[in-house]
Amino acid sequence: MLKYHRIGLLLVALLAVFAFAAVACGDDDDNAKTTPTAAAAATTAPAASPTARATAFPADSTMAKIAAKGSLIVGVKFDQPGFGLLDPKTSKPDGFDVQIAKEIGKALGLQESQVQFVESVSANRIPYLMTDKVDLVIATMTINADRKTQIDFSRPYYLAGQSILVKKENTTITKVDDLNGKKVCSVSGSTSETNIKTKAPTAQLLSLADYSSCVSSLKDGRVDAVSTDDIILAGFAAADPSLKLVGGQFTQEPYGIGVKKGKDDLVKFIDAQLDRMFKDGTWDNIYTTYLGKVEGLPKPADARAKLPATN
Ligand code: GLU
Repeated sequence: MLKYHRIGLLLVALLAVFAFAAVACGDDDDNAKTTPTAAAAATTAPAASPTARATAFPADSTMAKIAAKGSLIVGVKFDQPGFGLLDPKTSKPDGFDVQIAKEIGKALGLQESQVQFVESVSANRIPYLMTDKVDLVIATMTINADRKTQIDFSRPYYLAGQSILVKKENTTITKVDDLNGKKVCSVSGSTSETNIKTKAPTAQLLSLADYSSCVSSLKDGRVDAVSTDDIILAGFAAADPSLKLVGGQFTQEPYGIGVKKGKDDLVKFIDAQLDRMFKDGTWDNIYTTYLGKVEGLPKPADARAKLPATN
């Protein structure tokens, strides 16, 4: 009996020591506003219920429908440094376009995990929207008249221009004219492919599915150059010192967010969110995070000032 009493006392004493240690640890970090447990609970707190989220928008609006289904599905690139690149460690894409998508998801009342990404290469961006495989396409997509007959676009959120990527030792290609008679890689379904046909009509065009395949064929010597938007090429050049950009910008490529036709309310909502991001510094932060190290790029405020106000 005495033995059990002693064990009981020992247990009480041990519990008291643990309780004291826990309180002391909590006090240790003066800056912590919440205990570790409370902080963990805050980051994993469930999103508002689908009904609560949906009632934040007019009934029957596209936003209410997305909020009620509890997911925003976005087509992004998976192989383009800076804009949409799959992180092999997390198996999640990251980049400028991915962050814009997350901001829109947040504004719809969704948690980050409820914004889902689907790889979209240039040629399947419009088909994916038209067949409802995705809710939005945010994938370095140029707004142009031809595409506007098939889908709708938000206001421009980035202004790129087509350029040329060659091997560092190349001295024969310095401008778009020089692509005539040369082997040039671009991507099926892109404005870059169409622009090469008009601006360097005698170039031997190799059309592949994505830009990383074009860059591989440049490195292998199967083509002399890759041509697409400067900011995409700059991402590849930054990752590979054997490559360089030449030829400046020979087109204007204003990027817009693609939306299936018939969802005017969603386009207006996205435009308002982009305007908000331009004003409250969100866009500048995204620009600095993902493009800040690209040589020769303007400061965020100057890049923002160049954006056309409408499409
Ligand atoms: N911005 C151009 C386009 O939308 C080229 C980049 C791309 O293919 O993603 O076609």
